[in-house]
Amino acid sequence: MLPDSISPGALKTEDEHRRDICTVGRWLHQRGFVAATDGNISVRLDPRRILTSPTAVSKGMMAADDLVITDLEGKKISGRRNPSSELQMHLLIYQRRPDVNAVVHAHPPVATGYAAAGLPLNKALVSEIVLSLGCIPVARYGTPGTPELTEALEPLVQSYDALLMANHGVVTYGPDLLTAFFRMETAEHFARVSLVTELLGKQVLLSGEDVEKLLAARARYGLTTAAQAVPGCPVTAEAAAGDRITLTREELEALIENAVKRRG
Ligand SMILES: [Zn+2]
Repeated sequence: MLPDSISPGALKTEDEHRRDICTVGRWLHQRGFVAATDGNISVRLDPRRILTSPTAVSKGMMAADDLVITDLEGKKISGRRNPSSELQMHLLIYQRRPDVNAVVHAHPPVATGYAAAGLPLNKALVSEIVLSLGCIPVARYGTPGTPELTEALEPLVQSYDALLMANHGVVTYGPDLLTAFFRMETAEHFARVSLVTELLGKQVLLSGEDVEKLLAARARYGLTTAAQAVPGCPVTAEAAAGDRITLTREELEALIENAVKRRG
């Protein structure tokens, strides 16, 4: 029987990492973040080896000996099964982010809906998200399992800890597997909250000053990340207002009248 909790930290034995990956796989499946055999999980065992979930197995039904060990180029070192065709995405993240020891990829339905709509989750809507993930951008579409996909993710890996992958899903990563999993959970939760504000037809964004205070609090709460800060992330009330123009009824009518006249 697998435990229903995992401890933080990346300094564990290989057996502990195997158990953790199976537990996280079950959590992804239970929460509906993956369907059928979707998704993949990996952990950096040491500077040369990656432990990863196998292809064509439900992430909710993995056993410790289903997992595969590869090198940093994705060549299998041991395991009776084969690694996922999406392993290259994990390897790219390990290469570009030495601070990262675990990667989780899934297709949680609401965040994946934003990815399929080409909409980033980048607004300062919820204080906890500003503290934890900041923004979740959308990487352009690339065919899964091909270099197109890794090329699309590459420019974003340094600056964010969670990425929406257009028309595909979500990838999150962190210093240990629990953090990477929590980031997946946070991304989906934020997508749900964003969707509710869209349904309500109203979004009140935090001001630049509020966002500054939250970013300053990050260090106090121990929520620092190695991701590089990006100007304009998240989008504040002032930035959003800058994109909007306000017209009086008269001004609008004059504009329409002019346009109609020009066509006539
Ligand atoms: Zn996928």
